[in-house]
Parts: sequence; C-alpha cells; structure tokens
Amino acid sequence: MNITRRPSLSAYDYIIIGSGSAGSTLAARLSEDPGNNVLLIEAGPSDRSLFIQMPAALGIPLMKDRYNWKFFGANEDFHETQSDTGVYTPRGRVLGGSSSINGMNWVRGNRADYDGWCHRGLDDWSYAHCLPYFKRSEHYPQGDAAYRGTGGATEVVKTEIKNPLFQGFLSACSEYGAALNPDHNGAHQGGAHETQRNVSNGVRHSASQAYLHDQPRKDNLELMLETRCNAIKLSQNRAVGVTLYRAGEELNIEVGKELIICAGAIQSPHLLMLSGIGDGDALSSCGIQPRHHLPGVGHNLQDHPAWCFEYGANNPSDSIAAELHGFGRLKTGLQWLLQKRGLGSSNHFEVGAFLSLISSSDHPDIQLECIAMRGDFAPEGINISPGFQCFASLQRPTSRGKLWIDSADPFKPPKFRFHYLSTIEDKELALHTVSAIQEIFHQPAWRGRLTSELSGASNLNSKKDTARWLYSKVESNYHPCGTCSMGTSQDAVTNSEGRVHGLDNLRVVDASIIPVIPAGNLNAITIMIAEKIADNILGHAPLKPEFPWSEQPAA
Ligand SMILES: Cc1cc2nc3c(=O)[nH]c(=O)nc-3n(C[C@H](O)[C@H](O)[C@H](O)COP(=O)(O)OP(=O)(O)OC[C@H]3O[C@@H](n4cnc5c(N)ncnc54)[C@H](O)[C@@H]3O)c2cc1C
Repeated sequence: MNITRRPSLSAYDYIIIGSGSAGSTLAARLSEDPGNNVLLIEAGPSDRSLFIQMPAALGIPLMKDRYNWKFFGANEDFHETQSDTGVYTPRGRVLGGSSSINGMNWVRGNRADYDGWCHRGLDDWSYAHCLPYFKRSEHYPQGDAAYRGTGGATEVVKTEIKNPLFQGFLSACSEYGAALNPDHNGAHQGGAHETQRNVSNGVRHSASQAYLHDQPRKDNLELMLETRCNAIKLSQNRAVGVTLYRAGEELNIEVGKELIICAGAIQSPHLLMLSGIGDGDALSSCGIQPRHHLPGVGHNLQDHPAWCFEYGANNPSDSIAAELHGFGRLKTGLQWLLQKRGLGSSNHFEVGAFLSLISSSDHPDIQLECIAMRGDFAPEGINISPGFQCFASLQRPTSRGKLWIDSADPFKPPKFRFHYLSTIEDKELALHTVSAIQEIFHQPAWRGRLTSELSGASNLNSKKDTARWLYSKVESNYHPCGTCSMGTSQDAVTNSEGRVHGLDNLRVVDASIIPVIPAGNLNAITIMIAEKIADNILGHAPLKPEFPWSEQPAA
C-alpha cells in the first residue's frame, strides 16, 4: 500500500470511500489481483497511535476529536427535557474507521439473524452462506473448526479471566440459569461467556491493522488519508468518479470498474444524498438537484439501545480501577510497552452473556457486556472508580429510526433519530431486562462483593417508574446500521450484492446495508459482509455454504 497525498493516476479501476471495517477489508481483497488499481480514500488521519494500538486505552480515541466524528442523534420524542446534544454516536474518523476506536469484542451474531435475512428475499445471506466468510476473516485456533476459522486476517483471542468480579458474574449467571458457553461464536450463542477480542500479540487488531498493515506491500493500492469525498459523479445512471476535498483543494478522480462507498451507517446515506441519490422531494427542499429517486436512503436506521447498570465494589481491590490510576496506570502502560502483556492488552470487557428473556429459542434478545470498574466514558473525559458496570442492550429491536439532511453543505453532519423504544415489543423487552439484571445481581455468588445498584435501577417500584428510568437512561450501544439496506422492497437501497438499485457501477458495502440488525456487535459482521461481497466484485465463485449443525447430534 502506498500512502499518498496526490493520486498517481487520474482514473482507478476501483475507488473505495472510507477505510473502516468494510473499506479496509475490501481494499485488501480487491488489490490482491495485481491487475486492479485501487484507490482508498479516508477522511481521517493515520492510525499509528499508541492510544489506538493499546487495547486498554480504548477510552482515549473514543473521546479524542482527532479520531472520532462525534455525531449526536436528535433527541428522542420521549425525552422530557430536550438536551442540547442528543444521543452520543461516536464513529471512527481514522484509518480503520470505527474498528480503530471500538471495544474489540468479537461477536458474529446469531445463525437465526442471517436466516431471517434470507427469508426476506436475500437468498444467499443465510447463515450457511455467511459462515465460510466468517471463517475466512478470522484466526481463532482454539475453536471448533466446523464453526471457527484459522489463517484469516483478524486474530481473535479469548480472555483469561482472573478478576474476582468477573468470576462473580459468571457464577451469578450460572445461578440465574445462564450456564457458561465455551464459544458464543460457535454452534450456540446463548448463555454467559468469557469474551473473545480482536487483539494480536497484545495490540488492537483493527481492520486496518489486519487487512492493510499486516499484509505484504502492494503497489497497486493507494491510500489517501485526510481526504474527504464530498460527491459521487454520475453520468446518466452510471457512477463515473468522485469529487475529493483535501487540504483546501478539490480533486476529481475517475473510476473505471466500480465505485464502492464504505463510509459507514451515518455517512454512506449522507454521501448518497449529497450526490442527489435519495428522496427527490426531500433533496430538492434542501437545494440538492435530485439525480436518482431512491426514497429508502436513510430509512431503516437501527441500533442496539443500551443501559448501564453500575455497582460499587465493597472491596476496591477487586476492581481494576486501581491499576488504571496513578502508579498503577504507569505500571500497566510500561508492562504493555515492554511486553505487550497485562491489563494494557485487555479491552476490559472480559465477560458477557446473551440471554433469551422473551424468546424461548437459541436466538437471544439481550446482550450483557461487563467491566470490573466504573468508567464514565463521556465525550468530555473519562472518570474511573472501583466497581462493576454491566451494559445491557436489546439485540432484536423492532423500533426503526431515520437519517436525513437539511443542508447541501457536505461539511454539515446529517440529522438522525433512532426512535428507541417506539414499539410495544421493545418496551416490554426493556422492562424484562431490568428485572433480569436485578435477579442476576442478587444471586448468592456476589457474596457481598458489590454495593446496591447506583444508577437508580434498584429503586423502581412500578412499571411506570421503570419505564421512566428506561427512557431517561437509554443510550446507543454504538451499532447504527441499516440506512442503505439490502433488499427488494421499496425502501431497499441496494440489492443483495450491495449494488445501488437503478445505478450502474456503484455499490455500498458497510454496516449501512444490514437489513435487520443481528444479535451482536457489528465489527466482525461488517468484515464478513465485505469479505463476501469482495468475491462478488472480483467475479470469484462464492465460497460453498456450510451446514455443520446438520452433523450435530440431535439435542
Ligand atoms: C466506540 C465504539 C465501540 C464499538 N465497540 C464494538 C465492539 O466492541 N465490537 C464490535 O464488533 N463492534 C463495535 N463497534 C461497532 C463497529 O466498530 C462498527 O459497527 C463497524 O466498525 C462499522 O464498520 P463500517 O465499515 O460500516 O464503518 P466504519 O468502520 O465507521 O468506517 C467508515 C469510514 O469511512 C470514513 N468516511 C466517512 N465519510 C467519509 C467521506 N465522505 N470521505 C472519506 N472517508 C469517509 C470514516 O472516517 C471511517 O473511517 C463499536 C463502535 C464504536 C464507535
């Protein structure tokens, strides 16, 4: 890969906009053929920073403006007091995109999620079709080879649980009825688990690290950092190039084979709209000439709504907070710098669970993600103290939000609203979530280790009080998706190969094309999507579907 300030050519076979989970993966795959010239465009800077590479520093890039777009969703309808900011929605603005600032939890979603996509008419997105691409993307030698891959670009490691509060969580889950699942990315997702993270030799294995830095150098792949694509150029119904903006200069580059937008769930629909692709009337009303009427652009916004339940630690040394303060922090930092080991190589989220509260099947409806400290990762700064945090999020929300623009200025962020808890199903599930958390944290396994719940969830005496608490505390689990959904309905933006409906030469490939949000964090899922569509772009035969469960003994 050549990092360049000016493109060496005036036209490329492939231009990829955005170097995140999807963009880095696609850039690597498309440039494997030396006959293809590939240009990768990234608005943010290089990812060569200790704060990105050191897993335990995850809170820092999350807050630094340098690496983060820091979007804010509009206030939800139910917000009693409208805040000035709205729902905080961080997104990576750096090489590697959100995979360079995320929590590194490696989760693939549930088999039923992909089978559900298939039932919506996306025939080749069943789990059997996706599984070989999940396997191709990872290196996880300790798993069952029927489900887990080895030799793939992203190294995945399993946490070694040492902290007593994490042990407490696993035991409490077992007492509650959620047994330990040795591999939530294997045959079954449900139950409590020790987390798996994309970390290689103690270093964050972001998509850019795995697919770009760690691969052999390729001269046919050029990367332009700190360069923004402000518009796609269309000639009739064909994408023919891009308008780029770099250091105050505008550049126009042509594309031969395909233009691929990988700018993420917030900015891919934004870029389409800025280029006149979207709802014609809405675009006209903000001064953009409609070029291609596609009303679904920006619709179908989904996320996992989340709540943080927090507890103090009766014995502060049970928590990892001390190791992240003063001398402890220095020791942790030095150990990581010298040996790439210790707490510095952990993403802190070492245990979790997928639980089925309403659904009775092996298709969990909530996820729990835990850290053995209290860390307030607000946009303004991090505040760490001893304790335990459990983030609970709805995995199969039925609420749908929307993204739109009110300006033709490409530097003005788009508007969006998640519409969390706007369906009865989501409200019911959220109420059940509060009860489940109370049960888990009252199990004998805690043996007086934790104080009572501190964010107000333990003093809720009625359904009405609980609903009010849920509304006031809901936050994003940072998984926006669905805004350029694949499908065949009127609201679909792309077909099952990411090709934009009605246009030639133009695809969207990233979390925005996810039609229905899966049960799980989206990085591994987005990489899988890019791996799968890369084969389609290159004209390779798709990997053969795999059905390992048919060989499993009947339960
Ligand atoms: C704080 C945080 C924590 C998370 N934790 C986890 C986790 O633990 N596990 C997990 O699996 N998932 C996690 N996620 C979610 C996951 O990282 C994302 O869903 C996934 O990375 C999305 O990939 P993407 O390719 O769609 O977009 P991104 O990775 O966001 O990439 C989009 C890229 O496009 C660039 N771009 C945008 N517009 C333009 C433009 N006009 N011109 C040029 N470049 C542009 C952006 O700068 C960015 O680099 C987290 C996300 C965040 C933000």
